[in-house]
Amino acid sequence: MERTFVMIKPDGVKRGLIGTILQRYEQKGLRIIQARLMKVSRVLAEKHYQEHRSKPFFPELIDYITSGPVFAMVLEGNKAVSTVRLLNGATKVEDALPGTIRGDFAISTTENLVHGSDSAESAEREISLWFPDAFTS
Ligand code: ATP
Repeated sequence: MERTFVMIKPDGVKRGLIGTILQRYEQKGLRIIQARLMKVSRVLAEKHYQEHRSKPFFPELIDYITSGPVFAMVLEGNKAVSTVRLLNGATKVEDALPGTIRGDFAISTTENLVHGSDSAESAEREISLWFPDAFTS
């Protein structure tokens, strides 16, 4: 079993899509291990997106992710990391295929509704960042 960190971003929460998005993960067979609706501090946002610090879209990304509550969670299942990314769809809005969460509901590359860790290593780092009190085994 693998675990991954997943977040419904502020646009997903604002648009009332938490239930719809959760249903896709659950229907696929992923299990919710931890979940929390939370406001994101700039410090946490900058740590989470540290790899993008030098990108031109970084300030916009931090403003967006701190603009309202997010629904953060840990999901568990067979190949959870790659499965979530498949369900989420491509990052670039024009590449996100119908049938994926972004393909069906997102209209912008920045405001793209969801985040999923991109590797097992990222998942471990992100789970301990977002759920510091979570049990890890
Ligand atoms: P996430 O990390 O949120 O799951 P991702 O792994 O699919 O997304 P990354 O390349 O890590 O994509 O980008 C992180 C986030 O930064 C994207 O989800 C998006 O919100 C934003 N972003 C990425 N590329 C761009 C871009 N070219 N213009 C604007 N925003 C972008």
